[in-house]
Amino acid sequence: MTGLDALTRKRLAGRPLYRGQRVPVIVAWNCRGFTSEHPEWGWIQDCEHVDGRGKPDFGQLCMREQVRVVENRLCQVCGQEFGPGELMWLVGTFSAWFKEPAFHAGCGLYAMRMCPELRRRRSECARSTSVTGCTSYIEAATLRFQDELLGTDQVRALASPENPVIWLYAGPVEPTVQLPLGEWLEKAGEYV
Ligand SMILES: [Zn+2]
Ligand SMILES: [Zn+2]
Repeated sequence: MTGLDALTRKRLAGRPLYRGQRVPVIVAWNCRGFTSEHPEWGWIQDCEHVDGRGKPDFGQLCMREQVRVVENRLCQVCGQEFGPGELMWLVGTFSAWFKEPAFHAGCGLYAMRMCPELRRRRSECARSTSVTGCTSYIEAATLRFQDELLGTDQVRALASPENPVIWLYAGPVEPTVQLPLGEWLEKAGEYV
């Protein structure tokens, strides 16, 4: 937690610790997915994991938390709300919509510094990945599960034509700044 600003430390203090590191809200904990019916969205992916119990899998998203965070427009790392000007997003050139929700700058920095899997994935796609600040969080998109490009094997196994499983996607609205990920990480302190 060294090198973090006070506000970020405070935001992360409520997250469970694993091997000395705060585990982001969106990280999977021995998740076993199933589907449940959401009153507004229809069939969604769900999970019964208990935060802090078991072992976090930093390379995987918990789809229950993904839905919850997108729906409630929260930070994917600390799980808290955004104030004006605090929204940051990882964006690629490949799509306008993302499974991974927005983050506070300080929270995003923390996650990218501490998570080897995230760093690996980010560095592999660093050329096409940028960080953007935006003025408003989301238009939550409900894409019915019908595109094979979307989702994991586990999700595909849960879905069928009679039982489509939706994903909630989100995207930045009105970007205010956009920098390649590497450049943003170098200048990171300026955005916290
Ligand atoms: Zn889970
Ligand atoms: Zn946060």
